[in-house]
Amino acid sequence: KNFFNTKNITSILLLSFAYIFLGIISIEYTTMSSGVVIAWLPNSVLLAFFLIKKIKEWKYYIPFFILSEIIVDYPIFTVLQALQFSLINIFETAVSAFLIKKMTSPINLPFTNTKYIIVFFLVALNIMPSISSILGATVYTTQVVENSTFFEFWRIWYFGNSVGILLLTPIIVITYEKFDLLKEYFLNIKNIITIIFAVSLAIVLFSYNNQMTTLPTTPLIFILILLWIVYKQGILASLILALIFSIITMYFTINSTGPFVIFSQRETTIFLQEFVAILTIIPLFIGALLFEVKESNKKLIDLNNILEEKVKEKTKILLESNEKLTLLASKDALTNIYNRRMLNEYILQETKKSKRHKINLSLILLDIDHFKDINDKYGHKIGDEVLIEISSLLSKNIRQSDIFGRWGGEEFIILLPQTNIKNAYEVAESLRKKIEKHYFDKVGKTTISLGVSMYNPKDNILDFIENADSAMYKAKYNGRNKVECFNGIFK
Ligand code: GH3
Ligand code: MG
Ligand code: MG
Repeated sequence: KNFFNTKNITSILLLSFAYIFLGIISIEYTTMSSGVVIAWLPNSVLLAFFLIKKIKEWKYYIPFFILSEIIVDYPIFTVLQALQFSLINIFETAVSAFLIKKMTSPINLPFTNTKYIIVFFLVALNIMPSISSILGATVYTTQVVENSTFFEFWRIWYFGNSVGILLLTPIIVITYEKFDLLKEYFLNIKNIITIIFAVSLAIVLFSYNNQMTTLPTTPLIFILILLWIVYKQGILASLILALIFSIITMYFTINSTGPFVIFSQRETTIFLQEFVAILTIIPLFIGALLFEVKESNKKLIDLNNILEEKVKEKTKILLESNEKLTLLASKDALTNIYNRRMLNEYILQETKKSKRHKINLSLILLDIDHFKDINDKYGHKIGDEVLIEISSLLSKNIRQSDIFGRWGGEEFIILLPQTNIKNAYEVAESLRKKIEKHYFDKVGKTTISLGVSMYNPKDNILDFIENADSAMYKAKYNGRNKVECFNGIFK
C-alpha cells in the first residue's frame, strides 16, 4: 500500500507546519533575555505524534521533522548542528512514547488515569529529557559556545523540553484521542465570567512592575482556580486554562514584570519554569483522578443495574413458581379440580358465612357406581380417564359459584352456597341424569349415586359432610343411580 496518500501528506504537512510554528514561537516569545528558552514547544508535537501514531508509521514522518528543525534553527545554528539537535529531540520523544506505551499498555485512553500521569511525569518529563539534554549540552558546549558550562546547558535543555512537552502534549493527545472530553466544557455565562476574571487577574498580577508597587501577589491563586475548573469542567478545559495562564506568566516575566522578577535572571528562569510546570501538572493529575472516580462510579452503577435486573428476574421466577406451588397445593393432580384440602378450607369458610349471614348452604357428595368393575375390566388407566371425564362433565353442569372438588378416590363434593336443599336436590338430579345419558368412549355407560345435605348452624362441619355421606349410602342402598337427601327431607 502506498503510504503517501492525500490524508497522510496533509497530516505530514500539518505536523511540519506546527513544528516550525511552535519552534519560532518558542524562540521569539519564550526566551529570556539571557537566551534561555523557557519552553521548547516543538517536542510536544513530536511526543504527541509518537503517542498517537503506530510505531510502523513513524519512519515516514521523521525526515520531515528533521527538515522542520533545520528550518527553525537555520538563523542560529549550522545545518549539521540543527541535524544533531533534531536527532536528539526525536530520540528523546520517540523513546518516551515507546516506554509510555509499553508501561501503560492496558490503559486505552491516555491521560485519563493516574498511573498514566505518573509514568508520563517520570519518563517524558524527567528521565528522557534529562538524558537527551546530556547529548544536547555536549553538542552545544563543544560546537556552539566554547566557554559555556556543560551543567548549565544540561539544565536549560532538560527544563525547556520538559515544560514544552507538559504545556501542549496532553492537550493535543486528549483532543485527538477522545474528542468528546471537550464536551465537558460548557461555555455558559458563569464559566465565561470565571475565565475573563481569571485571565484579567493573571494579567494584572503579572504585568505590574514589582519595584514600583506594593500589591500583595500570590500566583498560587491560579492553582486554586484551575482546581475549581478541573473539578467542574474536566481535564481538557483546565489544561487549556493552564496554558493561557502559562502564556501570560511567561510573556510578562520575560518582559520583566510580575512577581518572579525580584530574583536574579537565573532564579527567575527556574521559578518561572517550575510555576508553569505546577500549573499544568496539578490539573493533569487531579483531572485523571476525577476521571478514574467517575469511571469507577459508572461501573458501580452498571453493576448495580445488572444486579437489580437479576433480582427482578429471580423475583419473577419465584412468584411464578409460588403461583404454581399454590396451584399444586390446591388442585387435584389427576382431575385438575380442587383437592380435599381445598374442599375442607372452602367448607369451613362457607359454613362460617352461612352462620353469620343466615344464608343457605348445601352439599352434594357423589360416588361412582361399581367403579371397581371399570378398573377391573379396563384397567386402572382407563379408570383414570373416566374419572377425568366425569369431573369435567360435572364441572360444566354446575354454577360458577359452586365449589367442586375431589373428595378422594372416586368420590366428589359439590358445595352450593346460597342454595337450599330443594334446589341442591335439583342440581344433583340433573347431574345424575347427565352422567346417566353420557356415553363414555371406552367403557360405555356408567352412573353415579348422590347424597345431599343442607348446613344447619347448630351442627358442626363434620355432621354436615357425614349427613351427605349417609344420604349417598342410602342412594347406593336403594339401587344406585339415585339422589337421596339427608333425613329424607324432600323425598
Ligand atoms: P359402589 O361405589 O357402587 O358401591 O362400588 P364401587 O366399585 O365404586 O366401590 P367403591 O366406591 O368402594 O370402590 C372405589 C374404587 O375406586 C376402588 C379403587 O380401586 C377405585 N379408585 C379410587 N381412586 C382411584 C383412582 O384414582 N383411579 C382409579 N382408576 N381408580 C380409583
Ligand atoms: Mg367409593
Ligand atoms: Mg363407588
